[in-house]
Amino acid sequence: NRRIVLAARPHGEPADSDFRLETGEVPKPGPGQVLLRTVYLSLDPYMRGRMSDAPSYAEPVQVGQPMVGGTVTRVVASNHPDFPVGEWVLAQSGWQDYALSDGAGLLRLGAKPQHPSYSLGVLGMPGFTGYMGLLDIGKPKAGETVVVAAASGAVGAVVGQIAKIHGCKVVGIAGGADKCRYVVDELGFDDCLDHKLPDLAGRLARAVPQGIDVYFENVGGAVFDAVLPLLNPRARVPVCGLISAYNATSQPEGPDRLALLMRTILTKRLTFQGFIIFNEYAHRYGEFRDAMEGLIQQGRIKYREDVVEGLENAPRGLMGLLKGENAGKRIVRVGPD
Ligand code: NDP
Repeated sequence: NRRIVLAARPHGEPADSDFRLETGEVPKPGPGQVLLRTVYLSLDPYMRGRMSDAPSYAEPVQVGQPMVGGTVTRVVASNHPDFPVGEWVLAQSGWQDYALSDGAGLLRLGAKPQHPSYSLGVLGMPGFTGYMGLLDIGKPKAGETVVVAAASGAVGAVVGQIAKIHGCKVVGIAGGADKCRYVVDELGFDDCLDHKLPDLAGRLARAVPQGIDVYFENVGGAVFDAVLPLLNPRARVPVCGLISAYNATSQPEGPDRLALLMRTILTKRLTFQGFIIFNEYAHRYGEFRDAMEGLIQQGRIKYREDVVEGLENAPRGLMGLLKGENAGKRIVRVGPD
């Protein structure tokens, strides 16, 4: 049984030395337990937060403990009546080949799910985040303008496609020409701007002549600076993530823009609302899954995975994700089907 543990807390970007691969015995299930073998491991930006012991909404991973993460697994031994051997199960078993569970928090995916790995992406936590954050907090109306960054990623791709289905004009922001082409040609956004090219503020202003009604915040930093002056009165800003700052070791450079932000919130009567998907919306996961499965089946939602091969490559996979190296939802193939 291989597992990757947190070896040290990173300073800035995570490094190879912050992770350690350990090998041990495959555990044996006790009474009421199941043994799960990981097939796919999800890599997600929040994992950077768990490596740090700065105060947050969730407990950090302890040094020496396995990295946490969502997994799609198979039951390989079972002393639990609800989880027969061979079934697929969505779990939180972390960066390891095998894990024991008493069944709590597991989601059965059946004996032959069509796309097991989708439960880590478009049908799982990130898809749910984009869907609920946009619809419940962003409240988009037909004809309104929606902007989302990290637009080709797991969350952003869902935000933009759902906004299109609701009749909005959708402008994405992404890193690089290839991602932008994908966002417009495959995902069907109206436009996509490369945040790595100069003058994002000017290009964004020209792309949204009617202003912005919903800004789905995934990144913060320079992208938010470009968005803020373009927000319309009564715009909604679901605050989902701030990935541009996850590796930061100091406060951003000045000038201090807090007073500008507060004045804009006041005079334009803006709504900013942060959310942590399963804290706020766990009770609506079933409703989301039904809706999203239908949309995928009808071909109205496109989805792209970026598969890293092998558990040993998970650390590099996470480091790359934080730098935008992923083309779509990043997952690790840990074991065979
Ligand atoms: P993605 O698949 O979108 O991958 C991360 C992307 O972030 C990169 O590909 C890169 O895209 C972009 N990025 C990284 N650094 C920067 C930067 N400095 N400026 C602009 N973009 C940057 O990840 P997810 O879809 O899984 O997550 C998107 C966001 O949603 C994250 O902030 C994450 O923390 C948040 N999240 C929040 C949840 C919640 O419950 N609140 C739940 C799930 C996710 P590009 O190359 O296009 O710049």
